[in-house]
Amino acid sequence: MITFEPREPRILDEDLEMLRQQLRRFVTERIIPHGEAWEAEENTPRQLFRDLGELGFLGLRHPVEYGGGGLGALASVVFNEELARSGFAGVAVGLSVHADMSTPHIAHRGTDAQKAKYLPRACAGEIVGAICVTEPHAGSDVAGLRTRAGKTADGWVVNGSKTFITNGVNADVYVIAARTDPQAKGSRGISMFLADKGTAGLKVARKLEKHGWYSSDTAELFFDDMKLPADALLGKEGEGFYYIMSTFQNERLVIGAMCCGMATRAIEVTLDYLRQRKAFGKTLWEQPVVRNKVALMASKAQAARALTYQCAQMVDEGQDVVREVSMLKVFAAETLQEIVHTCLQLHGGAGFMKGVPIERLARDARVLTIGGGATEVMLEEVAKRM
Ligand SMILES: Cc1cc2nc3c(=O)[nH]c(=O)nc-3n(C[C@H](O)[C@H](O)[C@H](O)COP(=O)(O)OP(=O)(O)OC[C@H]3O[C@@H](n4cnc5c(N)ncnc54)[C@H](O)[C@@H]3O)c2cc1C
Repeated sequence: MITFEPREPRILDEDLEMLRQQLRRFVTERIIPHGEAWEAEENTPRQLFRDLGELGFLGLRHPVEYGGGGLGALASVVFNEELARSGFAGVAVGLSVHADMSTPHIAHRGTDAQKAKYLPRACAGEIVGAICVTEPHAGSDVAGLRTRAGKTADGWVVNGSKTFITNGVNADVYVIAARTDPQAKGSRGISMFLADKGTAGLKVARKLEKHGWYSSDTAELFFDDMKLPADALLGKEGEGFYYIMSTFQNERLVIGAMCCGMATRAIEVTLDYLRQRKAFGKTLWEQPVVRNKVALMASKAQAARALTYQCAQMVDEGQDVVREVSMLKVFAAETLQEIVHTCLQLHGGAGFMKGVPIERLARDARVLTIGGGATEVMLEEVAKRM
């Protein structure tokens, strides 16, 4: 395999460079050889979570006292980029939802008891997290969610449903957004809750079949009079919308990083193919039109990567990054579409065949302009801040 090694200014310190090398080795030895089989099984094994946990990779940002690494946004970017560079985005997304999208809700606003109960085991990969916001009638419009959590004498009773939930079948802890004040309009009156696997009334309605990301599990959930204790409330009552929006910034940043990892892999597999494939008496790589196209894609990938690392640095500096992270979500995901489809075109008919890496990369890339904030919604966030 030819490697296409993107370069960057010295943004990462020695520890983060070492983290990248360790992750690169882990991906090469423990993910790539098994990725095809996991895609066929439509599942990522639990042992992979435990193995990554043992190496300290699943709680890079979580507090040290709860088993985490106490690192910043750059660490998450490296983690997500390297996982996605495996070429198996379904594997990457399950791990990313666990480490960067669901359990951060507990790390940021959990009580000491909640953090002590969940974080050490989440960091060790012993339990898996899911974030449950999207509903059949409320995706982009988070404020339109209808799942209802009513207060009872000793806790809460939750009724409603969620859809498209990554890790929805296999999760052990579900971070759930529900409406606690039915009188409050729109974004007000939403709160966050923690529910453990096996809670009575928490039902996995079905595992959804998808266009890509086969090895990640995606589920529809029902809450049928699901009773939760009073201390299942996460953070303050009524602040859920704000919590979701603030955690979305990290979600969008790491999706940007995933796009960069996938773009690199797409360019690598294409270089590999073009240097071997002959047509009209020479390799395709020797055709200037072909190599120009690849060079243009590499240039765009480099630009997306620069914006990703810039956003991570801004997060680590404590800056408000809503505008830049929204730009990144759009630019990285849309650029990735162009890259994977240009690369697929250059594979000819072979690119359309199952089992060829670019075919999977093209399918897996498609959702990234939708999930975690659709392109159109992200552009509105940018426009509002201009
Ligand atoms: C594989 C997968 C995994 C997912 N994992 C999770 C998860 O773990 N947890 C979770 O909570 N959610 C998850 N999601 C949900 C995801 O975040 C939503 O799909 C996304 O937010 C879009 O919502 P929607 O699908 O309801 O589309 P809609 O909100 O119905 O929008 C449909 C389309 O309309 C357009 N649109 C919408 N609003 C506007 C607007 N204001 N202006 C212009 N155009 C607009 C966009 O093109 C958008 O794609 C996942 C989705 C997928 C497909």
